[in-house]
Amino acid sequence: MQPMQSSETTQMIRGRQDDTTPRAWRRLSPDERALMASITGDEAWRLVERFATLVRESGSEDERRAARYVVERLREAGVPVEVYTPTLYLSLPRGAEVRVDAPGQAAIRAKTPSFSASTGPGGRRGPLVYVPSGFARGSADLFESGLDGSGRRDLEGAIALTEGLPLPQKVTDLEARGAAAAIFISPGERIHEAICTPVWGGPDLDNQHRRPKLAVAAVSRSDGERLAAAAREAAGGGRRLEVTVVTRLEEGLYPCPVVVATIPGAVEPERFVLLHGHLDSWHVGVGDNAVGDGALLEIARALWQHRAALRRSVRVAWWPGHSQGRYAGSTWYADAFGVELAERCVAHVNCDSPGCRWAEVLQDVSWTPELEGLVKEVVRDLTGQEAGGGRPPRAGDYSFNNLGISAAFMLSSTMPEDLRRAKGYYGVGGCGGNVEWHTEDDDLEVADRELLVRDTRIYALAVWRLANAEVLPLDVRAAVADMRQAAQAYARKLEGRPAARSVLDGVFDELDRLEAALESMETARQAGRIGVGPLNETLMKVSRILVRLHFAREGAFRQDPALPVPPLPDLAVAAERLAESPEESVEAFFATNSLVRGRNRVVYGLREARRLVEALAAV
Ligand SMILES: [Zn+2]
Repeated sequence: MQPMQSSETTQMIRGRQDDTTPRAWRRLSPDERALMASITGDEAWRLVERFATLVRESGSEDERRAARYVVERLREAGVPVEVYTPTLYLSLPRGAEVRVDAPGQAAIRAKTPSFSASTGPGGRRGPLVYVPSGFARGSADLFESGLDGSGRRDLEGAIALTEGLPLPQKVTDLEARGAAAAIFISPGERIHEAICTPVWGGPDLDNQHRRPKLAVAAVSRSDGERLAAAAREAAGGGRRLEVTVVTRLEEGLYPCPVVVATIPGAVEPERFVLLHGHLDSWHVGVGDNAVGDGALLEIARALWQHRAALRRSVRVAWWPGHSQGRYAGSTWYADAFGVELAERCVAHVNCDSPGCRWAEVLQDVSWTPELEGLVKEVVRDLTGQEAGGGRPPRAGDYSFNNLGISAAFMLSSTMPEDLRRAKGYYGVGGCGGNVEWHTEDDDLEVADRELLVRDTRIYALAVWRLANAEVLPLDVRAAVADMRQAAQAYARKLEGRPAARSVLDGVFDELDRLEAALESMETARQAGRIGVGPLNETLMKVSRILVRLHFAREGAFRQDPALPVPPLPDLAVAAERLAESPEESVEAFFATNSLVRGRNRVVYGLREARRLVEALAAV
């Protein structure tokens, strides 16, 4: 039961949610109102009920059935649709167990994440070493490690026991310390499916060596705590507890369906918005992500109906290989259509886990900074809520960061924080905060039809405005302000180290100049001296540069690993390494070199952006 206070809050929010009645659409244009009215939830819910019967593991027959269902419903409405069948590199978990090597001990129930090493029937045996790392507090710090990441080899041959989900940063850190296997203690009694490789999408020659060599198993909270207690007791008695971890996975190449519907724009058909979500799931995955698939289908059909009023094109894509291929489907698309996406995609919008039970609030929304204004306005106009959120984590089919494409949304609505706490729920990566996420229990119970209608409308309106705004709603000045904040935070870490701090001076100079150029551009625009066509072209090109500098280290047509990417990642070394290393030390010398090289990339990029803006303002 939840305490009174939290249900009152929920009630209050429900009251606000009533704003989605047509009466409240007064801030919408007539075209927008017509689009909203045609989204009723019927199409989306029909798909949700169908998908609730399909175990859509990537590469499976059920995934193909799901793809066929989407294609049939699109064709029935006359929406143009392409089906591709790329070969994806997947890792399919097939079972795991943990054994304490002592007489009378039964095997402990376990799951292995996708891309764990497969041990063979004998498993990997070693002394159990408890290495605390803590549980994530919420979905925001889900991807942080909490472990010593220095790579000092203090776990050679050991079976490491730690808390949390087996996500890539923790797995990478434990592998670097020499562990042979790792056991993760789930935050609750449910064991969540997961994927532990840091390699984003299909591996290439430069990153294939990063595939985990660690064997990984996850156990329930109570089993994990018993293991930790036994390890402590053994250590107290000067003994070591020997355990065996067995994991079984199938890893290889699988053909998978990628479905892409295109609703052509009536004015600028060559430019497009990409709206997308994943088709595959763990188990029947209703909250993650049948609801999103349903929202995409309903939006595709509604946009097709209203296409005469659609300015730019919209592509709606359903990806395979998200859960068992680390976003392999969207990465394949970023590869296969890389140049086209870089040149013509206005923005991408990711739809994952909308419309889940109790997910009344939009407090965990992702956006690249130039789209914050758009997202907040859409949420405000439809719900009366002030959306919260910010910088997207390096996760969730954001396979377009290296291409520099601006983005809105990843996970959707969530349950209010006080409700989550009242229920004793821990942070999860989807399902609106419902802890059935990534388990056998993520079924129809997790979806909420009313909230799904609301969230589908939010996505539809965001896409509509991106496709229809005459001037692209890319607030480049907001991006510059966000980058400045990040640079200032790094500079503060180097206070008291003037020589190191001065490396960053050039960044601030260039941020000032770019900001001044953007102001001149705005003045020229308001005076009617800049045409919409050239303005949009410049906004897109400048955003490309800024998104790459702010969200990626690697080149434009590559993929950064699935590890946390700090703001202005090229400068993060200032805080992470330089500030920590003694002055005059060799480590400080190396770190300074990294910072200088990173600074040069940032300065050069900012200048490139400024020249584009100046060229436009001078027209
Ligand atoms: Zn998902």
